Amino acid sequence: MRDTELYRQILGLEKPWSVSKVELNVGAQQVDVWVEHEASVRWPCPECQSELAIRDHAEERVWRHLDTCQFRTLLHARVPRVDCPEHGVHQVKVPWAEVRSRFTLLMERFIIDVLQQCANLTAAERILRISWDEAWGVMDRAVSRGLSRKRKRVIRHLGVDEKAFRKGHQYMTVVCDLERSTVEHIAEDRKIESLTSFYEGLTPRQRTGIEAVAMDMWAPYIEATARSLPQAEQKIVFDRFHIMSHMGKAVDAVRRQEHHALLAVGDERLKDTKYLWLYREENVPEKHRSLFDRLRGFNLKVGRAWALKESLRCLWTYLREGAARRFFKRWFFWATHSRLRPVFKVARMLRRHLDGIVTYCEHSITNGVAEGLNSKIMTIKRRACGFRNKHHFKTAVYFYCGGLDLYPR
Ligand SMILES: [Zn+2]
Repeated sequence: MRDTELYRQILGLEKPWSVSKVELNVGAQQVDVWVEHEASVRWPCPECQSELAIRDHAEERVWRHLDTCQFRTLLHARVPRVDCPEHGVHQVKVPWAEVRSRFTLLMERFIIDVLQQCANLTAAERILRISWDEAWGVMDRAVSRGLSRKRKRVIRHLGVDEKAFRKGHQYMTVVCDLERSTVEHIAEDRKIESLTSFYEGLTPRQRTGIEAVAMDMWAPYIEATARSLPQAEQKIVFDRFHIMSHMGKAVDAVRRQEHHALLAVGDERLKDTKYLWLYREENVPEKHRSLFDRLRGFNLKVGRAWALKESLRCLWTYLREGAARRFFKRWFFWATHSRLRPVFKVARMLRRHLDGIVTYCEHSITNGVAEGLNSKIMTIKRRACGFRNKHHFKTAVYFYCGGLDLYPR
């Protein structure tokens, strides 16, 4: 078999395209392949597909293909141009690459696969011998393709969460599909518009199909959802883990205050006990168990705060809203009579948001199920220095977490 025929087959070229020349440069570890087309072929206008005679050729272009063994393989061609009466002068579409790509389709697919598998962008660039800009270009095109192909599916359970992007209180809002564990939307800030921009992109059928939305007790998200969804008050479910984290912080605040007061009189009982009080009762490590039991026997303030935190967890065990509300009423009485200021504040906040807490009886969702997704986003964020800005970060999140159909066809 001749080398030109070999490469025609490797590249999967069909008439009117064929390989005219192959050059192997051992020193440069490179194979160059020239592709040409038969004369007297009519070409479809890329806009309207009407068949036209060739006008001229564009300058020679080069595409990187999959390596031939360890040899970089470059495909060269001059692409015909047509002059459509309606759409003007255009280059025709070539079967081996997408419009602005400098890679062949197969190479681009391969780059996408390697990027998806590599935890580290620099490693992927090294393996593929491509530059940061090239890797970025492939990722960007893959995401645009994926987003444009996305079907208008109904998402029953949404999770809305804020992510701190770098230090200095820059936030991003991330909306995910809790059932598929995919990121559906990512927007700057954590304002009303950050979330309404997602709702506005939905069809009426998609909007009414949303059954429940898990979120933090964050006014802009509540407002955005109330404005955009019918019967929103029955669909908002304040995230259990966020609520418990508020409670955990209150316990810690009580511990700190009490520890300071005790230290002032030379009592070091609460020294190094911060994490003990944050465990769930059943998770207190065995080696700390006896110390913890002893501390709880002292009738300390932090012990009372801890007991209130543990008791609050029962709120999510009720199947009926009425029972959950009755439980909360008792808990609220206890919490507000505890004379523990940080706990008191959380109790008041929970009472204000109670309607959106007891909706859990109907929709038992939390943002916790998207935990795998969160750790993926954190990994992307740690590499955010490589993404340079928020737009790149967004694209990377869609690339890795969007569940999108990324490949060129
Ligand atoms: Zn046309």
